[in-house]
Amino acid sequence: MAARSVRAVWHPCTQMKLHEAALPVPIARAQGVWLYDGEGNRYLDGVSSWWVNLFGHSHPHIKAALVDQLDTLDHVMLAGFTHPPVVELSERLGALTGLGHAFYGSDGASATEIALKMSAHYWRNAGRPEKNRFIGLAGGYHGETVGALAVTDIPLFRQAYAPLVRLAATVASPDARGALPGETAQDAAERVVADLRAWLEQHHAQTAALILEPLVQCAAGMAMHDAHYLRQARALCDQYQVHLIADEIAVGFGRTGTMFAHQQAGIRPDFICLSKGLTGGTLPLSAVLTTDAVYDAFYDDDVARGFLHSHSYTGNPLACRAALATLELFEQTDALAANVQRAQMLDRAFAPLTQHPAIRHARRLGMIWAWDVDPALTPTPFFARRYARHAMAQGVVLRPIGNTLYAMPPYVIDAESAEHLARGALAALQATLAEDAPAVGRGAALAPGLALP
Ligand SMILES: *Cc1c(COP(=O)(O)O)cnc(C)c1O
Repeated sequence: MAARSVRAVWHPCTQMKLHEAALPVPIARAQGVWLYDGEGNRYLDGVSSWWVNLFGHSHPHIKAALVDQLDTLDHVMLAGFTHPPVVELSERLGALTGLGHAFYGSDGASATEIALKMSAHYWRNAGRPEKNRFIGLAGGYHGETVGALAVTDIPLFRQAYAPLVRLAATVASPDARGALPGETAQDAAERVVADLRAWLEQHHAQTAALILEPLVQCAAGMAMHDAHYLRQARALCDQYQVHLIADEIAVGFGRTGTMFAHQQAGIRPDFICLSKGLTGGTLPLSAVLTTDAVYDAFYDDDVARGFLHSHSYTGNPLACRAALATLELFEQTDALAANVQRAQMLDRAFAPLTQHPAIRHARRLGMIWAWDVDPALTPTPFFARRYARHAMAQGVVLRPIGNTLYAMPPYVIDAESAEHLARGALAALQATLAEDAPAVGRGAALAPGLALP
């Protein structure tokens, strides 16, 4: 299966030649937090399958909803038609966020595209077509289609397509790891607000929107910041008449402890982008929610003032039904409250990793854990790739971003699975550092107490 896959399938975010050395792992089935291959091995899904899974794989409640939906309506186009799942989901998302007018896409990147287009089109309809530029944060990630790449500040993903991309401006990230000695995370956030302010002072007349990932810039390596930044960004956007787009694609649906991350700052964005956990990790779906003010600027007798954007599968009934079942699970299981306990249980399990002498900046927000591994101790290239291989040998799926090791497990992980995850994460770190030991021995001194097997 793996050999056939590399011949027939072009795998995402992958230099395919690397599969000469290590083939993709064929997964036969999945249940709860576990992925099973065809040979009786199981792997704990420590990254929730690229952050999409919330309540475990193959959840009976979501499965039943999907089977029921398949029996009634598989799909119908959403232009000129509507159906109960899309109406109910839109009402519920509106009630949860205080925004509304849900517009649907199929992936996170399409939600980014929708929000950027809606923002610029809003300003055009408002008689200010020159407001068509965007700002993002350093290290920001908003997807990889050509429009989304404009606001995705990851050079490796962007450089080959630079001629295609109308690059947005980038302002400093409020990443709390950038705090100077004596500074709190809030001080660090306040200091970098100046960068945004300076940019807006000069360029607000050409700027449509600021897009950011509230509280955690996940793809940047789980860079976390204080909610203070979001309040200041909101105030500056109001002052300079610039939209604020909250990209909650990764942090939404309870990941940071609240249903949506921006809620911790008590602010209201002009647009919210949702995807990933929206369907509990079962089907692709994304949504953009916005304000009445934005919606009203499109509402007109003139067709061209409308938002003429569509995807074939917009508002797919099966995906919307999966999303409704996922929202029901939040209520039925009181998931946000349960996650407070669950996170403390995981904190205890992860304690030996957190205290490992190679770890810098151990951090957690809600159900996101991250640990930076001191680069001086891993001089051999490709820490992330080597670590991921050792983790698989331990029966855990963990894929570091650069030197940042992180865990984002599903919300159903129990104490026994947590122990398995934490033990595997630590053992994989030790095995990876052991490969580096000869190089470290020659150069840098080993950190005191560093245990190498
Ligand atoms: C994953 C992600 C996206 C892109 O979503 P896709 O479904 O991969 O296109 C956009 N923004 C953020 C914050 C993400 O984490």
